[in-house]
Amino acid sequence: MLGTRTLRVFADGFGGEVIRPGEPKYDAARAVWNGLVDRRPGLVVRPNGTADVVSALRFAREQDLVVAVRGGGHSIPGFSTCDDGIVIDLSRMRGATIDPAHRTAVCAGGALLSELDNAAQAVGLVCPVGVVSHTGVAGLTLGGGMGRLQRKFGLTIDSLRAVDLVTAEGGTVRASADENPDLFWGIRGAGANFGVATSFEYVLHPLDHPITHGTVVYPIERAGELAQLFTEISETGPDELWLGFYIRLALPTEDFPPGIGGRPIAAVSVLHCGQPREAERDLGRLRAFGHPVAGSIEPKPHLSAQRLADVSSAWGHRFYMKSAFLRSLPGELVDMAVQRAHGIPEGAGGEFGFWSWGRAIAEVPEDATAFTGRTAAYWMGAEIQWDDPALDGPCREWARAGMADVGPFATSGRYVNDVAEPRENSRAIYGDGKYERLVGLKRIWDPDNVFRMNQNIRP
Ligand code: FAD
Repeated sequence: MLGTRTLRVFADGFGGEVIRPGEPKYDAARAVWNGLVDRRPGLVVRPNGTADVVSALRFAREQDLVVAVRGGGHSIPGFSTCDDGIVIDLSRMRGATIDPAHRTAVCAGGALLSELDNAAQAVGLVCPVGVVSHTGVAGLTLGGGMGRLQRKFGLTIDSLRAVDLVTAEGGTVRASADENPDLFWGIRGAGANFGVATSFEYVLHPLDHPITHGTVVYPIERAGELAQLFTEISETGPDELWLGFYIRLALPTEDFPPGIGGRPIAAVSVLHCGQPREAERDLGRLRAFGHPVAGSIEPKPHLSAQRLADVSSAWGHRFYMKSAFLRSLPGELVDMAVQRAHGIPEGAGGEFGFWSWGRAIAEVPEDATAFTGRTAAYWMGAEIQWDDPALDGPCREWARAGMADVGPFATSGRYVNDVAEPRENSRAIYGDGKYERLVGLKRIWDPDNVFRMNQNIRP
């Protein structure tokens, strides 16, 4: 428990905002994206800049407080809040600055994907990031960063050039290929373990024309054929073409024709980042598959695709997931997903998703970054969202059971940002060799494990 006087002395010297339990803003300040997470920090501080981050971190260490760092607040296990300790919430450190001549962007540590997307697209450039625009740049990048441009431009970390960090000691350090390259290696996949990132520098890529994007929905009975087509197009299609194959409930029911709404369906999503005429050519086989029962694929501005899931993925719902990297997508896995889709607890929205992987991701050697899983053919996830607390157990169990049979088809490594269990074995995420290397880095940069609200590398 923090003494009133101690707190006052800290707050008087702190440039940003300090929010204590009982204050009107406290409940909003302690909330994170996942409605399953309900923690009560002793203090939430919102730095205005690096000097405030340093001062908050020093105070936390003096007072021996658990430290949670918050970027966009999207951590699925809720690592960006804590009980009793201090939340260093970077939501006042926002913004993305673009240098069009050098095709680079610098984002503040609390920036959201929308800020990077909007600023880059304003000058016909893009950074490959995730698919919900209110996600934090920081957490997404520090874990890896999957998205629909990944086969052309790689993971977000593959466009990362440098990170500025406040270290556990309260110092500042820059990590890049030239400065502290070992730390830069670890930051790209296990980054939440090493400090508070106050800025990120990215290289950007040209994208100044409409992309071709959308989802087409088919009856669940066609799931097997559609999955086969998905794998064939994933293997033979160009790097510009990303595909996702989904088995999910057709929700909201009223958006679908009678007999389809509310039931399991099979769907394919695509994003083609080449010219629209090239997209039409590359989507020919999908167009020929047959008339979908819902959905469409059409040219649109990249930004409109980036915002499409913002409402369905709004803050406050309860959410759980498990994921894996697959070496192939055999029919038996599709059959399993179809069968499990019929068992999604009533009142919840659940899905199995399969994303085409490889290409630019696999061009970066597996040992070049801490991120593990570049050699997979597909990413697979079981995701479920609900609101009724009575469904917490059944929904978690549905996702766990859905992924229980995936082991024989999985490659090594897990995507750290998908790991919803707060105390997962980090060795399984990175593999033994990389885990040991990360422990070595942790002993150098955070020997007291100040940054432990994450999938933790124990020093
Ligand atoms: P936070 O909860 O703020 O932080 C997540 C972790 O990073 C915590 O451990 C936190 O301490 C640490 N952290 C945050 N900021 C900093 C910082 N500045 N310095 C040091 N550590 C920090 N992932 C993808 O790859 N692609 C997607 O398309 C995608 N879509 C998603 C959609 C939704 C709706 C959600 C909820 C998640 C999605 N994710 C996706 C996963 C997402 O990348 C992770 O949840 C990520 O950690 C969120 O980052 P954040 O900054 O919003 O989260």
